[in-house]
Amino acid sequence: MKDKDYIAIIQCHLVKQRCSGYACESAFDKRTGGFLDYSPDKAYRTIYLTCGGCCGRALHRKLSHLIRRMRTKEGIEKDKIVVQLSSCITKDNYHAPPCPHLNYLKELIEKLGLDLREDTHISPVAQKRRESGIYKS
Ligand code: SF4
Ligand code: SF4
Repeated sequence: MKDKDYIAIIQCHLVKQRCSGYACESAFDKRTGGFLDYSPDKAYRTIYLTCGGCCGRALHRKLSHLIRRMRTKEGIEKDKIVVQLSSCITKDNYHAPPCPHLNYLKELIEKLGLDLREDTHISPVAQKRRESGIYKS
């Protein structure tokens, strides 16, 4: 991930009504969970956005805006941006099963030509529940 400069972390709009997003930020800071492959020595820029609410269609507009602004204001091209979907979108977890629109979100991101990665914070408790079959994914 050394070739990326900017990480757009996308979180579930519904879950963010009660979650500050602390665990996502902490996982990035410590380079754990979905951030294991990011260099600990590199000062990546980050932005935290929600999908905008079901069905997630607003994500296309939000990311298009980000791409445009990064290019026009800072000369940063989209190949330097990576989108990271939070674990509350990608995984069965304490809040709910994975986002029912996960494939649609991925399609929107792909259509914009942005690279995509999955997961942010991986809770040890939730991981045990996945391994024991209590959580399905
Ligand atoms: S992954 Fe966890 S910390 Fe991050 S937004 Fe979802 S519920 Fe909040
Ligand atoms: S589309 Fe998925 S990620 Fe977005 S609010 Fe709905 S359930 Fe959450």
